[in-house]
Amino acid sequence: MRDDAPNSWEARADAHSFYGFTDLPTIEDRGAVVLTHGEGPYVFDVHGRKYLDANSGLWNMVAGFDHPGLAEAAKAQYDRFPGYHAFFGRMSDQTVMLSEKLIEVSPYDTGKVFYTNSGSEANDTMVKMLWFLSGSEGQPQRRKIITRKNAYHGVTAVSASMTGKPYNSVFGLPLDGFIHLTCPHFWREGLPGETEEQFTARMAQELEDVIATEGADTIAGFFAEPVMGAGGVIPPSKGYFQAIHKVLKKHNIPLISDEVICGFGRTGAVWGCETYDFIPDAIISSKNLTAGYFPMGAVILGPELTARLQAASEAIEEFPHGFTASGHPVGCAVALKAIDVILNEGLIDNVRALTPKFEAGMARLLENPNIGEARGKGLMGALEAVADKATKTPFAGDLSVSERIANTCTDHGLICRPLGQAVVLCPAFIMTEPQMDEMFEKLELALKKVFAEVA
Ligand SMILES: *Cc1c(COP(=O)(O)O)cnc(C)c1O
Repeated sequence: MRDDAPNSWEARADAHSFYGFTDLPTIEDRGAVVLTHGEGPYVFDVHGRKYLDANSGLWNMVAGFDHPGLAEAAKAQYDRFPGYHAFFGRMSDQTVMLSEKLIEVSPYDTGKVFYTNSGSEANDTMVKMLWFLSGSEGQPQRRKIITRKNAYHGVTAVSASMTGKPYNSVFGLPLDGFIHLTCPHFWREGLPGETEEQFTARMAQELEDVIATEGADTIAGFFAEPVMGAGGVIPPSKGYFQAIHKVLKKHNIPLISDEVICGFGRTGAVWGCETYDFIPDAIISSKNLTAGYFPMGAVILGPELTARLQAASEAIEEFPHGFTASGHPVGCAVALKAIDVILNEGLIDNVRALTPKFEAGMARLLENPNIGEARGKGLMGALEAVADKATKTPFAGDLSVSERIANTCTDHGLICRPLGQAVVLCPAFIMTEPQMDEMFEKLELALKKVFAEVA
């Protein structure tokens, strides 16, 4: 139980800061962790305690918490031109340069970029673009959006409707017209006796059936994360994107790759779609885009959607959409630097170099009788806690197993995130081998302690 004084940071956090996505019993018990600064992949709290952040903030602080080049890029741009919009035919030079860079590093030869302040807004923007096209191209009924259960696409009313998580029902969401297919998680969703190939074929058939039931001409787009992130780090089953893409192409339904987590190196390639060998019609980017140093999102349109949106906009003389800070010059300068740092200063190379060690660490923890699955890709992974490994039976919900693991890790100076009954690891791309050893050692101690209590 917490015993902090009424004027403590913890009490002050409670008094006037409304917690989002926070386990309130944990707060009641332990109080918020109030942080002051970071060094490399570590963060420090107001009591001077040091934590290795195994989640890179929220997947995004991939260059660590004190990267001098990123801070300098921001400072230099603040001095030069601290803010501007991208409306009315005006935009900063940084915005022009970032769009060029994003198309250059995208899978597209040509294309265009539209900026937002977050991943949620980028997904929202993409849906509005698709709806705009439907109306403009004489198919106003083409509005339904298909995603998958456990998908995470954000929290605005539309992106939350795309997110396939049960908690959205408290808001009366999803909105009508948002369809969630089966999560392509073979370990959990595979039927007895089904091979992974058969499972993938069943996922593609489900999509085919839903399209038939709903009517292909009512569906505006299919959105997918290459590896589901906040759904619990779920890589697709073998051949999933090839099978799905074939169905979508047959029915002229755009495939949008939500690369907010996977983009810029997390899976070991620049894009998750590269890792899984498909070329989507558009890419949604955020998080790593600025290495977490500035709030920014981007819709990166491939050539076909670019041409169609250009035509639809010209027909009414504008695209009536944009955020005040879309294409913010400081955000763009930071993103340009972040992309350079990730691609050219060894960060993505380090992801590739560390992946075998990361996988070995995960595999070792899978030997624990209460870890049912160790899964992931590149430097994103999850360990799924189970009460019974053979039957994959989860622990009783009221045991709050993953919260206990995460809280025990916090006590040991390690930050990692509980997600359902899984624990998520997505370390910074700058992580060193000794830091990775520290991460796994601390996690292993926490797992042993908690499983001894509950199993
Ligand atoms: C985080 C995330 C989002 C939402 O981004 P915000 O910046 O939090 O709005 C969307 N899609 C994916 C895949 C994400 O991980």
